[in-house]
Amino acid sequence: MAARVALVAAAGMALGALFGRPALMAGVALALILARELQQLRRLQRWLRTDRLDEAPDAGGVWGDVVGMIARLHRRKQYHKRRLLRLLRELRRSTAAIPDGVVLLNPQAEILWFNRMAARLLTLRSRTDVGLRIDNLVRQPEFVRYLGAGVFAQPIVLRSGTSGERYLQMHIVRYGAGQLLLLVRDVTRQEQLETMRKEFVANASHELRSPLTVIAGYLEMLANEPQLDPALAGPLQEMRRQAVRMTGIIEDLLALSRLEADAGPVEGVDVDVAHLLEQLRRDTLARSSQAPELQLQIDSASHLRADLALVQSAFANLLDNAAKYTPSTGTVTVRWWTDAAGGHLAVQDNGIGIAAEHLPRLTERFYRVDAGRSRATGGSGLGLAIVKHVMQRHGGSLEIVSAEGRGSTFTCHFPAERVRAAAAAA
Ligand code: ADP
Repeated sequence: MAARVALVAAAGMALGALFGRPALMAGVALALILARELQQLRRLQRWLRTDRLDEAPDAGGVWGDVVGMIARLHRRKQYHKRRLLRLLRELRRSTAAIPDGVVLLNPQAEILWFNRMAARLLTLRSRTDVGLRIDNLVRQPEFVRYLGAGVFAQPIVLRSGTSGERYLQMHIVRYGAGQLLLLVRDVTRQEQLETMRKEFVANASHELRSPLTVIAGYLEMLANEPQLDPALAGPLQEMRRQAVRMTGIIEDLLALSRLEADAGPVEGVDVDVAHLLEQLRRDTLARSSQAPELQLQIDSASHLRADLALVQSAFANLLDNAAKYTPSTGTVTVRWWTDAAGGHLAVQDNGIGIAAEHLPRLTERFYRVDAGRSRATGGSGLGLAIVKHVMQRHGGSLEIVSAEGRGSTFTCHFPAERVRAAAAAA
């Protein structure tokens, strides 16, 4: 380019020399070059203003290179744009196909986007509802509390529909910089099946109770019969033992059904834990013929705001287990103490213990480490399931620490609001 300008200026100067005006002619030549370049620039500008950047105009020299580079850049941009659009379209199609509802929320819980299923399940409208706070649209108090608490480890289940006929599971997951992902799933079918299962267990247990009471009654009568054939005494004794065991299982099933039917937290009364434990200690020793030593360690005079029948059955279960799974030479220590976290009741034994692999499943219904041993000791396999439910109803938890061959500690943790200082407890 510079060489061309120099050449044209020199040619202009040479031509001007013929007429005695070299400077003027060189100036005219340079002005012509400038005009031509400006014209090219104008053409380039006009071309850039059109939206047909892929049709490059003919231009020579430097301008041709510039046009070529711009056209290439444009083609590359178009290619990436098309790819991104295709990806976006696929993403939208796949999220629309997800069988669960998905709602994206900003840190203020305002709706950024939702898929078709979320619109259907939560009756959201894309034109008007984007930008609104989710709790203005999903107004169930449980959901408002869940969102407000900001603890999203577990999903919650809400009743929805005009007459609460539908169950929706709502799970919030945090992502990015404080944004929230709300996943909504219709769990109506599962909830219905669960209700049917609970009702079936409750009804079956209830129906079995009366005939069993009759059988147990007659067995009792027969066992006390003076003219009973001595050969029948053994089998009768065994039948009575099994009838007692069956009654125990049915009572436990009914207790569990009652606990499950009413899942709300219990209000309760002030329970004098020290007094209750003393009574339970006597009962446990009376029930077991080969009980280990049973020590009480009461470190707090505080009472517990609880449902007496429920905590009584939970503590009795833990004491019975400790007595059952500890040899008569062993020791069981029951400790009640309170601290800033709340009230705690630990039942510690130095009995057979439990291997680590069983611990996570121990509170499942009918789960036994050694079914034969549990049956022999008259266990139903429901005791710890009951304890867990009782603790849940009191807003507390059950902690199990155990080492096989060395013993176990079952601790019931109650929240601080359930602890009543002894003087304040009426
Ligand atoms: P069960 O009626 O069989 O005792 P539970 O639900 O009370 O049923 O307990 C479940 C299982 O946990 C028991 O079968 C037993 O194997 C184990 N277990 C419970 N408590 C203890 C304990 N203190 N020591 C050892 N094993 C225990």
